[in-house]
Amino acid sequence: MTKIDTRCIHAGYTPGKGEPRQIPIIQSTTFKYETSDQMGRLFDLEDSGYFYSRLQNPTVDKVAARLADLEGGVGAILTSSGQAANLFACINIAKAGDHIVAANNIYGGTFNLLGVTLKQLGIETTFISESSTDDEIRAAIRPETKLIFGETISNPGVEVLDIERWAAVAHEAGIPLVIDNTFATPIHCRPFEWGADIVTHSTTKYIDGHGTTVGGAIVDSGNFPWDKHADKFPGLTTPDESYHGLTYTKQFGKAAYITKAVTHLMRDIGAIQSPQNAFYIGLGLQTLALRTERHAKSALTVARWLESRPEVAWIRYSDLESSPLHALQQKYCPDGTCGVMAFGLKGGRDFNNRFLDALRLITIETHVADCYSCVLHPASHTHRQLSDEQLRAAGIAPDLIRLSIGLENPDDIIADLQQALEAAAR
Ligand SMILES: *Cc1c(COP(=O)(O)O)cnc(C)c1O
Repeated sequence: MTKIDTRCIHAGYTPGKGEPRQIPIIQSTTFKYETSDQMGRLFDLEDSGYFYSRLQNPTVDKVAARLADLEGGVGAILTSSGQAANLFACINIAKAGDHIVAANNIYGGTFNLLGVTLKQLGIETTFISESSTDDEIRAAIRPETKLIFGETISNPGVEVLDIERWAAVAHEAGIPLVIDNTFATPIHCRPFEWGADIVTHSTTKYIDGHGTTVGGAIVDSGNFPWDKHADKFPGLTTPDESYHGLTYTKQFGKAAYITKAVTHLMRDIGAIQSPQNAFYIGLGLQTLALRTERHAKSALTVARWLESRPEVAWIRYSDLESSPLHALQQKYCPDGTCGVMAFGLKGGRDFNNRFLDALRLITIETHVADCYSCVLHPASHTHRQLSDEQLRAAGIAPDLIRLSIGLENPDDIIADLQQALEAAAR
């Protein structure tokens, strides 16, 4: 099995004789053992096996293994949300007194998580432009910096990150690059191939793809040499008191980081995915290659149409040949990025609001990246408490409309946009 669309269907689960064809939902909190010694060995991490679904569950693990395969990693975990995945990805290696460098165009929820909540826990973040030069990235790194964080395709700005360059600067400083690959998905970009060390996902978006299930994931490339920078990552390279002095890098080698995320963070914080929800995520992965191809193809058709319209002041979609980000898009996502684009209308707020209100097929939602086409105007919705000045400081133009192209026929999507533009002009 080499082609990624084949692996979407089969990776992570191969049934034996008479076993379910589809990944079965094992809706059980706990698992049975025969002897006290068998159970004891599980708690010493000497045997692997299921004992409690807060740590591991067979359904969740099979789906995580499918995603790990698609990303090309050594292991993965599913979490209760994308927010939990990004939190875990950071605090698995950063603690109070440590520091993070992050691109400032990342998803608002992650921006808040790093800038406010982790700061309250004593972990400081320096935000820098995603277009920073190597020297600007270097200047933000401190001796106590534990990771660099960015998004392949940013939400909502849809900028493309130069992952290979950011990874090189991170590695020069002896720290990993963590990439949130939610918008590109492993179908359109595999950040590990460009040097990223850890990948995160909000599986809520394209991976679920049908608007059913909030979830997240962390995938470990297994490539980061934790032992080479042992003094920076004592949690992985020195004995863990809560596991009888076990050292993760010694015992688990390439899977040290992802194993610690399970045995520490899942055990202590418990932001787990449920077997039922993992099942939906597994179904979503099976059609991911088909769906993302259609999302990107339809979005390019719609973006070209919008670009040709006199009412449109500007449009950002890196798959457009006219985009200043097109060269980066061609490097990292040659088959297309995603279904999300950003654009602004001429004609001010009133025209803008009449346009949004006139849309019929495309609905107003605080969501993106699933089968339903939807639209959001951050200045009126998610970011409405900010002034125009504050919006610009956050990298969001006051007229920015985020449009997420679903799986409807693109002719119908364009017809809806056209009638709404005409209605707004009346
Ligand atoms: C939505 C999103 C998140 C947060 O995910 P939830 O599943 O909503 O918690 C994180 N990163 C990106 C890029 C997102 O789009």
